[in-house]
Amino acid sequence: MSIQSGLPDSFNPQSYDAIVVGAGYAGAVCARRMAEACGFKVAILERRNHIAGNAYDCEDEAGVLIHKYGPHIYHTTNDRVHEFLSRFTEWTDYSHKVLANVHGQLMPVPFNHQSLKIAFGDEKGERLYQKLVATFGQDKKVPIMELREKNDPELSEIADYVYENVFLRYTMKQWGKTPDEIDPAVMGRVPVFVGDDDRYFPQAPYQGMPEVSFTDMFAHMLDHDLISIFLDVDARDILEVGERSVNVCGKPFGGEVIYTGALDELFDFDLGALPYRTVDMVFETLDKDQFQPVGTVNYTVSENFTRITEFKNMTGQVVPGKTTILREYSRVYIPGVGETPYYVINEPENIELYKKYRARVEGVLNFHVVGRLAEYRYYDMDGVTASALELSDEIISSNH
Ligand code: FAD
Ligand code: UDP
Repeated sequence: MSIQSGLPDSFNPQSYDAIVVGAGYAGAVCARRMAEACGFKVAILERRNHIAGNAYDCEDEAGVLIHKYGPHIYHTTNDRVHEFLSRFTEWTDYSHKVLANVHGQLMPVPFNHQSLKIAFGDEKGERLYQKLVATFGQDKKVPIMELREKNDPELSEIADYVYENVFLRYTMKQWGKTPDEIDPAVMGRVPVFVGDDDRYFPQAPYQGMPEVSFTDMFAHMLDHDLISIFLDVDARDILEVGERSVNVCGKPFGGEVIYTGALDELFDFDLGALPYRTVDMVFETLDKDQFQPVGTVNYTVSENFTRITEFKNMTGQVVPGKTTILREYSRVYIPGVGETPYYVINEPENIELYKKYRARVEGVLNFHVVGRLAEYRYYDMDGVTASALELSDEIISSNH
């Protein structure tokens, strides 16, 4: 692997078999597999000054390992994804736990048996819990929107409480809309859990944090003789996508191009901008060992920020007398001014617009789009990895 800032004058795209735009999961997985399985010489162009995309982590001034673009917790049910990523890191046995702060009272999220007892008191909480077990079964996940549809006074009481105190205000802060107004799949990410498991990802057999860091995992993934990384390079300066071909540095490029950035941006928003939510990440280092009991506390009824994450609680790092926390403030993303488009907004008119951009690259057979931005999808890290593994399978099989 070689890594440098900027493109040297001698940069000749024709000397590469593949150009990858973006050094996040989507780009790094494809780059590694093309280098390894096809013997491709790969150039990665990344406009940030670091690898790892939004999963980037680094030590702050106090020496605390922080996640610059928000808390990232690895979790997956996908064997292939886990096997692939585990080539480049060991994992800790960390299980992410989240508490909701409801008027000062802390209760587990996903809302579970224990949360019911905290919210309603032991006796009533237990009665309501037994009702949930009788209705849905033990250890079942029930999306709040499904629970709200039940015509039963006790179930309605639970649904109303959870909706009002866990979902409504948090969702308003995160999306600027009520839960009824957004894609039900988004609420479905955090169902009510009819059981005692208080992990945020109870369903994931593989979960944890990289033993060293996410950035270290990426450094290993990209550590291959055939991979060159050029940081601080905006690919749009040298990339032009036509109807049937793609130009790099003004000349038709015959190799593979993997694009992991936003498609609307690639075309200067000429059909309109795809909507996103961005997040203002506000870090604070405190002169104490610990600030809160778990990795993340969601502020579900108060405050303007959505959640506070304390990194040491997730990484297990020991830094005596110092801890760094992050408050996240979600807001509308303004396109074209250098903000980070963090969350896609999965609504029919946005998907329609996305498809129009996508149609413009379909005829360019060596131009491939993959990733959370390029596919305009609310992917977790494992979902992006799976998508990149699939795309690289196709490229590998057509080059053998
Ligand atoms: P990115 O990581 O965004 O990488 C794309 C890269 O392309 C970027 O580095 C960008 O700079 C670069 N790029 C774009 N355009 C250009 C260009 N024109 N020229 C050069 N470079 C370009 N997932 C989990 O599994 N667990 C979590 O706990 C979790 N927490 C999250 C918290 C937040 C706040 C957010 C926003 C996401 C979270 N995710 C989490 C999701 C995770 O971040 C993504 O799934 C993953 O990082 C997406 O990888 P990617 O390669 O598609 O995109
Ligand atoms: N959500 C909520 N309250 C919570 C947790 C989640 O209202 O305490 C809703 C909110 O709309 C959020 C969505 O569920 O955007 C998905 O939550 P998740 O934690 O998966 O979001 P992410 O970690 O991707 O930001």
